[in-house]
Amino acid sequence: MKPNWGIYIHLPFCQSKCYYCDFYSHRSTEAERARYERAILLHVERVFGQSYGRKSPSPSTLFLGGGTPSLMDPSFLDRLMKLLRSYFQLPLDFEVTVEANPGTLTEESLYGWVKAGCNRLSLGLQAFQPRLLRYLGRPHSSEEIVKAVESAREKGLDNFSFDLIYGIPGQNPEDWLSTLEKVLELHPKHLSLYNLKIEEGTMFSRWQEKGLLEVVSEEIEVLMYEKAVTILEKKGFRQYELSNFALPGYECRHNMNYWQRGDYLGFGSGAVSMEGLRRWTWLQDSKRYVEAIEKGQPIPMEEEIVTALEGAEEALFLGLRRREGVDLTLLEHDFNLSTEVVQQWKKISSQLHQQGWIAYEQEKIALLPKSYLLSNEIMKRYLV
Ligand code: SF4
Repeated sequence: MKPNWGIYIHLPFCQSKCYYCDFYSHRSTEAERARYERAILLHVERVFGQSYGRKSPSPSTLFLGGGTPSLMDPSFLDRLMKLLRSYFQLPLDFEVTVEANPGTLTEESLYGWVKAGCNRLSLGLQAFQPRLLRYLGRPHSSEEIVKAVESAREKGLDNFSFDLIYGIPGQNPEDWLSTLEKVLELHPKHLSLYNLKIEEGTMFSRWQEKGLLEVVSEEIEVLMYEKAVTILEKKGFRQYELSNFALPGYECRHNMNYWQRGDYLGFGSGAVSMEGLRRWTWLQDSKRYVEAIEKGQPIPMEEEIVTALEGAEEALFLGLRRREGVDLTLLEHDFNLSTEVVQQWKKISSQLHQQGWIAYEQEKIALLPKSYLLSNEIMKRYLV
């Protein structure tokens, strides 16, 4: 594994399905969750005990995502950390993020996580207005958001990230500004702002097909985005990735590794792993995932080996999402790119630079803030 690699644990259980969500998640019983937790630990043992364990550098980050990790047993993180420590000498600054839903966060789970080493809490807030939370199908209230933050702070956890959505049908710019204001009163260290996309298979897409969804115009969405950027910058947040803002030193290192196209190992049904040009995804079926592990059988998965050019394109596009941008010389070296491809990318970079869309200096390219909203169009220009 490359240095700074991360571990991702997918916990695909939710209280109910939010109307906009197309992630792999479903309802479960307590017994199913307990069985799943055991299977994850066995899987971790299987992987680190046999292959990666002794020969890999220690991971730098751990991320428990979902789904709703706050539905799991409070002791799960502790058991997982003990297991990881038996294979690796974890660094002192090991970043441990747990995603949580404000409505399912209990005193007991918060206490358990902090004790086990969680040093970053990512809360899915999305909006502050009760009518918008209901409309999104979020199973929590705005009061529970505030309570969750206060409660975590009491346990000594102060490093919060909040997820927010703009462009929700029925959301007006005043709602959005009021959400930002209320969120900033909670003193987060990090914010992820997402523009609502109607994904296939969701309740929102069914409503849209029936003409029941009043989508927010692109003009209003752009206005919401621009207002947020201005407000957050004034408050000292740096937009270090297209959708992510952090106070200095609070960037999410786990996600930074994704955007640097680093290596990572995923555990859990539907979790993705990547090592170099190889990427694999464990079957999105938690029952079959658990059964395979319990029976000691191979876990069904899908595997893909990308070409060096595809890997370089991925690294280029991910790099362009970051404020720092990406170094074409490094890509050339890391992926052993042909001179032809490198020359072509340099030519495109010069053109985009002359047109005022990107910064291009000493083979390093980065989007300019004014072109963030056009990132997809700009990235497409690089496809060889
Ligand atoms: S809580 Fe998160 S993962 Fe679960 S349904 Fe809602 S958005 Fe999807």
